[in-house]
Amino acid sequence: MALLEVENLKTYYFTLRGPVRAVDDVSFELEKGKVLGIAGESGCGKSTLAWSLLGMVPPPGKIAGGSIYLDGMDIAKMSEEELRRKVRWKRISMIFQGAMNSLNPVYTAGAQIEEVLTYHGNMSKLDARKRMYELLESVGLDRSLSKRYPHELSGGQKQRVVIAMALALEPDIVIADEPTTALDVVVQAQILNLLKRLQREKGISVILITHDLGVIAELADEVAIMYAGKIVEYGASEKIFYKPRHPYTYLLMKAVPKLKGPKESLIYIPGQPPDLVSPPKGCRFAPRCPWAMEVCSKDPEELTIEGPHRVACWLEKVSPGRTLELPKKA
Ligand code: SF4
Repeated sequence: MALLEVENLKTYYFTLRGPVRAVDDVSFELEKGKVLGIAGESGCGKSTLAWSLLGMVPPPGKIAGGSIYLDGMDIAKMSEEELRRKVRWKRISMIFQGAMNSLNPVYTAGAQIEEVLTYHGNMSKLDARKRMYELLESVGLDRSLSKRYPHELSGGQKQRVVIAMALALEPDIVIADEPTTALDVVVQAQILNLLKRLQREKGISVILITHDLGVIAELADEVAIMYAGKIVEYGASEKIFYKPRHPYTYLLMKAVPKLKGPKESLIYIPGQPPDLVSPPKGCRFAPRCPWAMEVCSKDPEELTIEGPHRVACWLEKVSPGRTLELPKKA
């Protein structure tokens, strides 16, 4: 049985205009020790999905349907108290987007790690101090940095402190939400290498949320591509990167600038993601899809290609196995 099984999850924000369907009927599994990358444009529901897994969706949002099984327990049905006692930090923890915003500016780095250990892990102050030093060292920081306030640390050091906090109680799953955003490329590479090393050493499962396909290619075993609240393609990284089957996945990859080879015009995806209060009927990507057909006005069936590889697109039904290629003028 998979460590985490998400089934038909729906998380909506209930606004005066109507429900915003930020996560709409999403299903996936995560096995122990594996890395799942979740990619898509801003506003496609990636962060809402992450908050749902921790029961931390900000109001007016809430889980409107579906299940999240962690070792067989449905955490979508748990109370706030149960989530705090049994799940957060201990079983699932999170590296939040933007280290500066997730650290408290009036406490030292060491005090913030110790708080996780004493409050959520019920450790004595003395044990928490020892463990805090071990954690700092495991993320490549000197223990003397424990006395510094967040504003006295560099971006990379803050991100390492946040990673140490996420690992403090040895959770089974760590959700990393855009862990390298706002860091320069050298520090990005250091943080990615650190995550890779810790994930392998500790055998933890990671859900890596990013809009950067390069980061996913570096770390993920499997990839879920999200568009407008839905997973449109899912599969092993090499399958998705080698031969994407969904036009959105294909165009996302084409939009990554190439450093080698002849100069080519940059490809971009025209238009904007839809309003999730009233998304288009049928395929939500249809207004931006160069391959859209009449049948796309109906909801696309999800088709299994091979193993875990699946895609929700009519093109796969009409011409199975087709290699996508952008029409010359597009
Ligand atoms: Fe494009 Fe149709 Fe596939 Fe949607 S279902 S991605 S509109 S081809």
